[in-house]
Parts: sequence; structure tokens; C-alpha cells
Amino acid sequence: MLIKKRHKTKEIKIKNLAIGGNNPIIVQSMCNIKTENTRKLLNQIQRLENAGCEIIRVSVKDENDANALKKITACIKTPIVADIHFDYKLALKSIDAGVAKLRINPGNIGALWKVKEVVKSAKINKVPIRIGVNYGSLEKELVKKIENKKMTVAAAMVESARKEIKYFEKLNFTDIVVSLKTSDIQQTIESYMEFVKHFNYPLHIGITEAGTIKSGLIKSAIGIGYLLMQGIGDTIRVSLTADPVEEVYAAYNILSCLKLRSDLPELVSCPTCGRTEIDLINLANRVEKILYSIKKPIKVAVMGCVVNGPGEARHADIGITGGKGVGLLFKKGEIIKKVKDTEIFDELIKELEQYK
Ligand code: SF4
Repeated sequence: MLIKKRHKTKEIKIKNLAIGGNNPIIVQSMCNIKTENTRKLLNQIQRLENAGCEIIRVSVKDENDANALKKITACIKTPIVADIHFDYKLALKSIDAGVAKLRINPGNIGALWKVKEVVKSAKINKVPIRIGVNYGSLEKELVKKIENKKMTVAAAMVESARKEIKYFEKLNFTDIVVSLKTSDIQQTIESYMEFVKHFNYPLHIGITEAGTIKSGLIKSAIGIGYLLMQGIGDTIRVSLTADPVEEVYAAYNILSCLKLRSDLPELVSCPTCGRTEIDLINLANRVEKILYSIKKPIKVAVMGCVVNGPGEARHADIGITGGKGVGLLFKKGEIIKKVKDTEIFDELIKELEQYK
């Protein structure tokens, strides 16, 4: 087995979901609209939910954002995470507004008594907290140690998390999720691998500031993919400079490639060539966008022609092969329909939805 056994972590309840333990690896993303713009934000949340996003993070930058949270948590079923930097009072307000989880950054929340206030309220309201360690905002003394070569980045990242964890534990609070992100693949991997030697808190994994939809996806696939293959990771966010919905497609893609969730479809599509006689690139992209919201372990083949098409399509549960202005729809190796090229997408989606 190339994929190692999953690192055993503590199960943490986040509203109607559970992270860690034997639970599926959860997909999350983060809105990129200011939270106080409630209408726009709810619209983006809806799009993320439609794409299959299972946890949605929003930034709480000021009082206006915190005040808007009540309305958002009241209309949304998906767990909402409040992302807090600098101001502990915003964390307290977010808990009061009914968020399912908090993300705070140990490097910038300030004095320990402020953290204590947040932890106290989180405990009473059963709100887990993610300790989000980020290389870009590591505590000054740890940065100095890295610069003076007294500590590796990985050791400093783990040390930052350790300090916060110990403090939380002292307060008898263990509903903790941890992330240790840098924008460097190797440093990030080393940090997580060091962390799992010492702790069993569930891990949110990702490469921060990974890049655009192309470069960021490659970087994330390598970094997140490597960690997942080491058995590390309970929830993932693919951080992209793009529409957050793209992060959801990307996250499912990584999980599907590694077959790490039993409810995910798999898409096989040919690279196209001079034999292709339908608009296959457009078709494959449209299918991919809808695929991960259909939570079924189906293998779907979208093929350009009869050369490899029927062969691949037959290995798939459902497949389509293009011809001259037509498509042949296959199911478990049998041709079930010949449809006009303009109808291929709708027919394929219909079959996917009905597939049992
Ligand atoms: S399946 Fe057909 S169209 Fe697609 S790459 Fe192969 S030969 Fe070309």
C-alpha cells in the first residue's frame, strides 16, 4: 500500500459534522467577500454548498462583520467558521452569533488572558477552535530563532502550536483542530510530520498562498497529496487565488485521485486529438463542475472518439463517447443511448443522478 494508514486523531464535533477519528476527510473553503455584505456572501455560500463544500470559513475583520454573522448562521446549514485575527472580542461576538467553529492565530491574538476569555466562551458554547499556525505570522521570538538557525521552520511551527495547545489544555479545553501552513511545500510537510509525532489533534491541511488556479492547484496537489499519502489530514482546504468554488473542485479532485473517500465520483477524460468530433473540452469541464456534488462512487468516462472511447467508457460505470455530431452513452459496458451532441451533457447528468 503506497498510502499509509491514517494517523489516529481525536474526533471533534463541528455542528452536525465530525472531524478526525474515522470520519471522512472533510472539504472546506473560505469566502472572499466581506462578511458584512450579507446578501453577496450568502450567494457565495450557496454556490459553495452546491459544489459540495462541507465547512465554510468567513473572515471576521471588524464589528460590522461580527454583527452580520447572526443572520448568516441562521440561514445556513453548513458549519460556518469565523476567522479571527488580532481582536479577541470579535471571537467572543462570533461565538454569540452561533458560529460552529473558530479559527484563531496564536501569533497575533495577543495576551494570554484574551485567549482565556475566548476559550472560556468556546467551552461553554461547545465551539471547537482551530489553532491556525501560519509561517507568515509566527511569533517574533520564533522567527528570530529560525533566522539565527537555532530552530528549523518545522520545529518553530510545531512549537507555536504546542504553546497554544498546552495553554488550551491547562484550561481543560481539547476541542482543538490544528493547522501548520507555510507557502513552501517541504516546510509545510515537515511541520505536519513533526506535529504528528507529538499530538493526536485533528489536522486541517493545506499549502497557504499556494497561487493561482493552475500553479496553486499543482502546488496544493503535491503538498496535500503527499501529506494524505502519509496518512496525515482530517480536513483540507486548497488555497487558491481564484473563485473559492474552484477550491472545492480541487479538494475533491485530490481526494478522488487518492481514493480517500468512498462517496466520491472519479472522472476519466481523454486529452482530445484530431479525431475528436464533439466539443469535448467544454463537456468534460461542465461534467467536472457538477460531479462532486453527486456524492456517489461512480467512475465516469468522457471520451472523444471510438478509438479509446468505448474501451475506457466500458471500464467506467457511466461513459460517453463522441462521434460525428452524436454521443454514445454507455452504462456498465453497454451502449444505452445514442444522443445528439447538443444533448450529451443533459443526458449524461440525468444518468448520473439516477445511477444507483
Ligand atoms: S479517445 Fe479518441 S479523441 Fe480522445 S484522444 Fe483518444 S483517439 Fe483522440
